[in-house]
Amino acid sequence: MSDGVSAIKQEYEFKAEMKQLLNLIIHSLYTHPEVFLRELISNSSDALNKVRFKKVTNTEIISPDAELRINILVNKEQKSFSIEDTGIGMTKEELINQLGVVASSGTLNFLKQVKESGKSIDENMIGQFGVGFYSVFMVTDEVSVETRSAEPFSKSYKWVSNGESSYTIEETEKDTRGTKISFKFKDEFADFADDYKIKNILQKYSNFVEFPIFVNNERANTIEAIWHKKKDDIKIEEINEFYKFISNDFQEPLGYLHLNIEGNINFKSLLFIPQIAPANLFRDFQDKSVHLYSNKILIREDSTDLIPEYLRFLRGVVDTEDLPLNVSREVTQNSPIMAKIRNVITSKVLALLDEWADKENDKYNKFFEQFGSLFKTGLNSDFTNKDKITELIRFESSKSAKGEFRSLNSYVASMKPEQKEIYYATGNSREQLERNPNLEYFIKNDIEVLYFTDPVDLFVMPYLFEYDGKKIVSIEKAELNIDKKTDEKVESLSEESSDDLIIEFKNVLGDKVEDVLVSKRLVDSPASVVVGKEGLDPQMEKMMKMMDKDFSASKRILEINTSHQLIKNLSSLNISKTNSELLKNCITQIYEGAMLIDGNLNNTTDFVNRMAELMTIATNK
Ligand code: ADP
Repeated sequence: MSDGVSAIKQEYEFKAEMKQLLNLIIHSLYTHPEVFLRELISNSSDALNKVRFKKVTNTEIISPDAELRINILVNKEQKSFSIEDTGIGMTKEELINQLGVVASSGTLNFLKQVKESGKSIDENMIGQFGVGFYSVFMVTDEVSVETRSAEPFSKSYKWVSNGESSYTIEETEKDTRGTKISFKFKDEFADFADDYKIKNILQKYSNFVEFPIFVNNERANTIEAIWHKKKDDIKIEEINEFYKFISNDFQEPLGYLHLNIEGNINFKSLLFIPQIAPANLFRDFQDKSVHLYSNKILIREDSTDLIPEYLRFLRGVVDTEDLPLNVSREVTQNSPIMAKIRNVITSKVLALLDEWADKENDKYNKFFEQFGSLFKTGLNSDFTNKDKITELIRFESSKSAKGEFRSLNSYVASMKPEQKEIYYATGNSREQLERNPNLEYFIKNDIEVLYFTDPVDLFVMPYLFEYDGKKIVSIEKAELNIDKKTDEKVESLSEESSDDLIIEFKNVLGDKVEDVLVSKRLVDSPASVVVGKEGLDPQMEKMMKMMDKDFSASKRILEINTSHQLIKNLSSLNISKTNSELLKNCITQIYEGAMLIDGNLNNTTDFVNRMAELMTIATNK
């Protein structure tokens, strides 16, 4: 086309599919009109990135000194809006070829499918279409695009369209390179012509655009996309500021990961582990912790497809070039790109935690104290990384001080040669566990017992049957295969007396108990109850009862300590048959006492009354 012709305003028809597309945009996307701003910012940011690339590669451009920035102007009275960038701009050909046609054949196929299925289109699909710019037609009837390419000797052009069937292009006057898009809002969207409102919308997603954004000459974005910087170029203060900004946390993070992944998947990411967990770890961390960006523009605020549930304590951003802007939820959910990103993030986070566990134990313990409950659930959700997670889980134990943790690895390392299994006890708290009579044997014999005091343990630990070839066994389950220490010179009842006494116990207790046995593990207490081999873990039972009030606990096995003086006294009573009433009462009291400690005594009144009766007898002169 000769210069003489291009100076005149020319009219161009949109192609048929473009008309369809425009129609769809205008009529299907009206529910989220504010997306136009994000699309325009995104285009400006792209254009600025391109020109920046030319600058850094020393390509000749016009207005080389123009500051890379985005200017937005709004005027309430005139209901007007404009956005101007000093980016790459467009030549006339580009205006025709890039702004006037449907971007890809995929778009058209997608459109056809949508039309055939009769589904409505939502704003998340705009980016997939590659028609972001056209979203402005939701809020305006006519758009003007003035642009001047960064190419040396370029001319400036003005493109105008009502978004219906055609557009015009004419030459115009524009001093600097870049693009200015202006329009008046439709009456129903006039409230967008307000700098406060625009800034507000901007805040949500464009704070990390790498270029300054001004709204009515005021700076509207504060933080740059620091995850794009080279690691060595970022100060820790900047990282911390960024964390505080995105997390609303007042404290610095416990630690962070800066990822720059290139290869068959490309993304940059800054991920933070906070110091303190929210009040409800499982509820409060679910969604908006890690934001997904596509080329510095936020495309998803939540991280449900990006971060596995057990790592949802993470905060931060993931920015990938491999996903188009505004991919819909359905698309990301099944996207192999998301799956790859998730896998890389998972293994990097596990590697970081492993490094802490290895070299910065205090830091790791802090992490585990805060987020361990959630983290452990990875045991039954991430089978690929189960071994790594297993190495990273921690417990207090009978050999750790309160608040100190043991790993399974350290447990096994300090096992005695004759010990074949890993032992644990469950309870509501360390204090409660320490009073558990079933623990006595283990303490006395210096055998370590892991304390499962976190309710989550009951749900996740069953997924871990063994570690390092050793079974993980509850001390509360009967039939522990441990021999009572022989060097203890405490006299026990003879086998015959024991057997007789046990018969009497069974007579008195009847079907309240599954069995009565001579205990191998009691040292200081006269008796305790344990769960039979097939029974549920007592803590688990407690949970079941909370969920279902009709759930009945399994019958317990009563274990008696035949070295204990009380049991010996009862044996004498049993043999002499002098006071069978007292014997019966004592047996019932012992059983109920053990059930009380177990947390399963329903009728405490009887227990207390009987106690009073027994004390009366004991104090009678
Ligand atoms: P997309 O950005 O997904 O390619 P758009 O419809 O938003 O789709 O834009 C179409 C094309 O128009 C862009 O690819 C770009 O070439 C051009 N364009 C849009 N806005 C600008 C701008 N501010 N500066 C330079 N080119 C632009």
